[in-house]
Amino acid sequence: MALKFKNSLTGVKEEFTPIQQGKVRLYTCGPTVYNFAHIGNFRAYVFEDLLRRYLKYKGYELTQVMNLTDIDDKTIRDSQAEGISLDAFTQRYKDAFFEDLDTLRIERAEEYPAATDHIPEMVEMIKTLKEKGFAYEVDGNYYYRIDKFDDYGKLANLDRDGMKAGARVASDEYEKDSVSDFALWKAWDEKDGDVYWETELGKGRPGWHIECSAMSMKYLGEHFDIHTGGVDNMFPHHENEIAQSEACTGHKFVNYWLHCEYLIVEGRKMSKSLGNFYTLRDILDKGYSGLAVRYLLLATHYRQQLNFSLKGLDAASAALERYNDFVTNLGEFEGGESDGSAAGVIDKALAGFEEALDDDLNISGALGVVFDFIRDINRLRTEGTLSSAERDKALETIEKFDTVLGFAQEQEQLDDKVEQMIAQRTEAKKNKDFATADRIRDELTAMGIILEDTPQGVRWKRKV
Ligand code: AMP
Ligand code: ZN
Repeated sequence: MALKFKNSLTGVKEEFTPIQQGKVRLYTCGPTVYNFAHIGNFRAYVFEDLLRRYLKYKGYELTQVMNLTDIDDKTIRDSQAEGISLDAFTQRYKDAFFEDLDTLRIERAEEYPAATDHIPEMVEMIKTLKEKGFAYEVDGNYYYRIDKFDDYGKLANLDRDGMKAGARVASDEYEKDSVSDFALWKAWDEKDGDVYWETELGKGRPGWHIECSAMSMKYLGEHFDIHTGGVDNMFPHHENEIAQSEACTGHKFVNYWLHCEYLIVEGRKMSKSLGNFYTLRDILDKGYSGLAVRYLLLATHYRQQLNFSLKGLDAASAALERYNDFVTNLGEFEGGESDGSAAGVIDKALAGFEEALDDDLNISGALGVVFDFIRDINRLRTEGTLSSAERDKALETIEKFDTVLGFAQEQEQLDDKVEQMIAQRTEAKKNKDFATADRIRDELTAMGIILEDTPQGVRWKRKV
């Protein structure tokens, strides 16, 4: 079956053909590490996780790159407000981001390049753009000349005639009605404090858009398969990435652009500036699991807006419970007398799951198929008309689905974590670091784990 994506560049659903057979190169715009990401941001990353996992399910070898924007207007502003170095400030939010990825069971990309590690690559690109006449300098600032790039506006469908010639914009983010020459390099000024690089372009720092052009091409080559982000990235960020990259290389940058719609709250985009946001941590504190958040964010098609509510989270938790109960009950079932219908149920489910996801990642269709499968196999199990061989086939099928969905509770992983924490506590006690030992025990208690110190060592059990 052919995999199809709706390509934002053409506006139509297209069959997916990678540049190199069997391999996919994917760039996903990553977080600006100036705060804890909110669950609106995570909607985009969960969508990209679905894309990643399904490409692997289809047998593609994948290279995914996600950048970390650790230098821009916002990181500078907020690190200075706190009075700490840019590095120390962004490191805190990088760490939190990776922790949250794990909580949401988002698979790791192959590379996470940080912008501050790639300044020379950005400088090289800007120099090339200047040589080719696409960039110009004003008082140490470098701007991109959008007039010179005939295709400017092709992603965001801009009306070129309406553009103001000669206007310039210094900030990284702006609206379509102020489309203008944008900053590639910003000369140092006082409000940047000690954040600057001395380069051939002078003393300063890069603009946001050049970061993604330079890092994507470094790790994925000048022409790669898929580039994604939230719909708000389409303009100006992705439009500018195309302009920078294609002007530099003289050929096409990316074949397929996929954009994820907003997570909304009472009709408005969830965002930091509106103040209507929840971080993942806020939601965990309310007693919801990371998996419930994953389910909620995943279950709506990525090109549809998703309205966030706690009621929706309750429904997601209930669906997850049904899913995991199915796996547990089936695993414990000894097998009965086959009535011969399981093979048909399994084949239909596998075909339906793929057919739905092949269609531009139609996840609601795919989940419909999975829950029909659960209902049908549950019926065979409770009627005792499922053999042990069919039970095993059904378990294999749900495991296969789970490589894409990532909903199964992993008991073993949890056990490993507990064992590891107990070992750390024993070590702390040996070193007479009782404060750490107590802290670890409190953390374990919060996880519902009870410890017993016995002469044979520490034993643990789960609170029931
Ligand atoms: P930022 O850290 O603001 O650059 O955003 C990181 C990613 O989250 C980008 O891909 C944004 O498009 C995406 N994003 C931000 N807010 C939302 C939202 N409410 N719903 C979905 N995606 C969002
Ligand atoms: Zn980007």
